[in-house]
Formats: sequence, structure tokens, C-alpha cells
Amino acid sequence: MKKRIVFVSHCMLNSFSKVKNESKLRSEEYIKNKNKFLAYLIEEEIGIIQLPCPEFTLYGLKRWGHVKDQFDTPFFRNHCRLILMPFIDEMEEYLKQYDVIGIIGIDGSPSCGVNKTCIGHWGGELSNNDKLQSVIGSIKEDNTSGVFIEEFKKLLNERNISVPFEGYLPSSIENLYKFCTRVDVEN
Ligand code: SF4
Repeated sequence: MKKRIVFVSHCMLNSFSKVKNESKLRSEEYIKNKNKFLAYLIEEEIGIIQLPCPEFTLYGLKRWGHVKDQFDTPFFRNHCRLILMPFIDEMEEYLKQYDVIGIIGIDGSPSCGVNKTCIGHWGGELSNNDKLQSVIGSIKEDNTSGVFIEEFKKLLNERNISVPFEGYLPSSIENLYKFCTRVDVEN
């Protein structure tokens, strides 16, 4: 069997790139399941390629959480494409000798969501907005990919590379194990 490689969203390996989250419970579950999965990848000797974080590399550490609508701009899309290009080249080269399991994104993220992202009518001045709670409340889950993943799919398409995507959700970690063992089955 050929050696396997997987591409993962940046914060699978480095949680510090994420938007600061005051919900301790949520981040504990996030870290616990993620670390268990990463230990599995190491145990299985699967190569791990860490993708760049599109939000951190544009907005840094002090950014607010966003919804997909706010990143759906030519500027953010171009930024995603620019930072992804070296990884498309890497993938093309690895595919010559390795099984590339695929790309693991972060479901729910406006950038890295694969099966789920978040949408809403966010934007504008915060300090004098007396309808702020209803604006925040407009956030909804949406069964589409985030902007970074959309651009990733387009770039792969343009290069005729076909690899699958899967999203990480702390509550459905089993999907990721299935995603990785799938390659054994296919060979
Ligand atoms: S943009 Fe992607 S890599 Fe960066 S913190 Fe969000 S989900 Fe993680």
C-alpha cells in the first residue's frame, strides 16, 4: 500500500489561529476530539500537511467572528487563491507517489467549512447599532462550503485534480476516521 497524506485546515494543528471563543466547554470538546484524531494520524503514519489559515493571514488575531456573506468578496477569494497555490503544487507532486486521502476542513467555518458554513446579515457599525442582538441572531447554518474551500475546489478543478473533502465537527469525529480508512478500502 502506498503511503498516505492528508491536507488539514490550519487550526486542526494550531488552535491559536481561531477566533477567540469564550465558550470554554465548546473549545474543550473541540481540542479533545481533534487531538485524538491527530494522534490517530500520527499512529497510522499518515503525513499531515497544514494548510494556511485564510482569516489569520488577512485579519490577524484580533478579528471578530464572521459569516460567509462577509467573506464572499473578490478580495477575500483572491487572497484564498493566492495562499492556496503552493499547496496545489505540493498536492500535484505528492500525487505522483502517495495516496492523498483528501482535505479536512472545519465544518461551520465561513472559510473552511466543507459540508456546513454560517450565513447571516452581519456588517456595519457596532457601537451605535441598537438592533445589534437581532443582527447577531440572523446567523444560520448553511449546507454549503466556506469561501476558502470553495476556492480550493475551483483551483483543483482547474488543475484536473480530483480529491475528496471532509469537514471536522467535534460531534461527528467518526466521519473523519471513515474518511481516512476509505483509502485502505479503495486500494
Ligand atoms: S479560517 Fe479556517 S484555518 Fe483559520 S481558524 Fe478558521 S477554520 Fe481554522
